[in-house]
Amino acid sequence: MEFSLLPPRHQLVETLTRIYRQGLTTTSGGNLSIRDDNGDIWITPAGVDKGSLTPDDIVCVRHDQTVEGRHRPSSEYPFHRMIYQARPDIRALVHAHPPALVAFSIVRKVPDTRINPQSRDICGQVGYAPYALPGSEALGANIAQTFAQGFNTVLLENHGIVTGGQDLLQAFQRFETLEFCAHINILANALGPFQVLTDDQIEQFYRMDNQLPEFVPQRRTSRELELRLDICRFVSRAYERRLMISTGGTVSARVESDTFLITPYGIDRKYIAPEDIVLIDAGRREQGKVPSRAVLIHQLIYQQHPNIHSVISAQPPNATTYSLVNRRFDTRTIPESYVLLRDMPVAPYGTQYVQPERIAAMISKDTPVILLQNDAVLTTGSSILEAFDRIEVAEFSAQALLQTLSLGELVPITDEEILNLKRKFLQ
Ligand SMILES: [Zn+2]
Repeated sequence: MEFSLLPPRHQLVETLTRIYRQGLTTTSGGNLSIRDDNGDIWITPAGVDKGSLTPDDIVCVRHDQTVEGRHRPSSEYPFHRMIYQARPDIRALVHAHPPALVAFSIVRKVPDTRINPQSRDICGQVGYAPYALPGSEALGANIAQTFAQGFNTVLLENHGIVTGGQDLLQAFQRFETLEFCAHINILANALGPFQVLTDDQIEQFYRMDNQLPEFVPQRRTSRELELRLDICRFVSRAYERRLMISTGGTVSARVESDTFLITPYGIDRKYIAPEDIVLIDAGRREQGKVPSRAVLIHQLIYQQHPNIHSVISAQPPNATTYSLVNRRFDTRTIPESYVLLRDMPVAPYGTQYVQPERIAAMISKDTPVILLQNDAVLTTGSSILEAFDRIEVAEFSAQALLQTLSLGELVPITDEEILNLKRKFLQ
């Protein structure tokens, strides 16, 4: 779906519903707006259930201040108006009270976005606006002044977050990515100090080459067409289950020996469609499409492992937390975890850029899953379903492990029972 072609009132409903379904707002909290080319501000209404909003509920405040719609505009309209006045480049705003960012807002701290290569550049520096009464001109002035300093993401003391963008999708992606960082900061802190990336390490990611030579496909097999649909279904499922966020996660699947399909670079994971998926054939990319930056690693894995038919790299929050800390992600928790994940090694940050062949060589029948330090969980499988299952099991296992922190020490399955599991399930 081409989100930017939706009219403002539809974009607002779609995005607010998305925020509500992802558990990032309550029905009473949060408001969004868009300023169109005319200077009119389209905004969510005051006092309407966020779970059942329709486009007709959206209010339009014309540039001459006349209000159109069957409801009152959000009570926070003053700060939306004042931010737009202060920042002519901002065309859309997202405001809500998602729990992890509220935690930062009530202890007056800012989440570190250098936990992985993408988040800092998506969110930018995070500003802080002093507390004032909700809905007041004073709150509007505090937030607008912080935006005027150039911040696009602003925490509000004892309140929540406001993010801005050149369109609503960008404002949403900044909001969701920052909440993801806040969540991971909180989880990682519980395990002790965690490592963040330096500027040089972040630049390594942006130097990674995904501009392979192009080719024009001559034919489309039925298998290719089916896999395009399957990849979209699994990306969508991963997004719904919060195993991926809008700005991160790659799925690929082998079509034939030297040919595979992979998700594109830079398209919101909720809106990836079959035609966006990129066909890679013998190191060349389908004309006019740009694959994920992980394309070379996926290609090397397919080249070295003929039995692998799908590779997924994703950033589910609990499992990703273990890629930031010097604590072992012990998979000897329950039989399901060990059988699907095995002993999950960690690849040091940067290996995927300077020696991607080393990542491919780490994979084997006994090592189907790798943690990429400060980046992602990489799973492989004989099908997309198997690789997806491994992502899901990694996330559940990590979540259970993190929950033991307030309960007591893990009692792992014994070595002898691990041998029995291998004999029964892994021969
Ligand atoms: Zn609020």
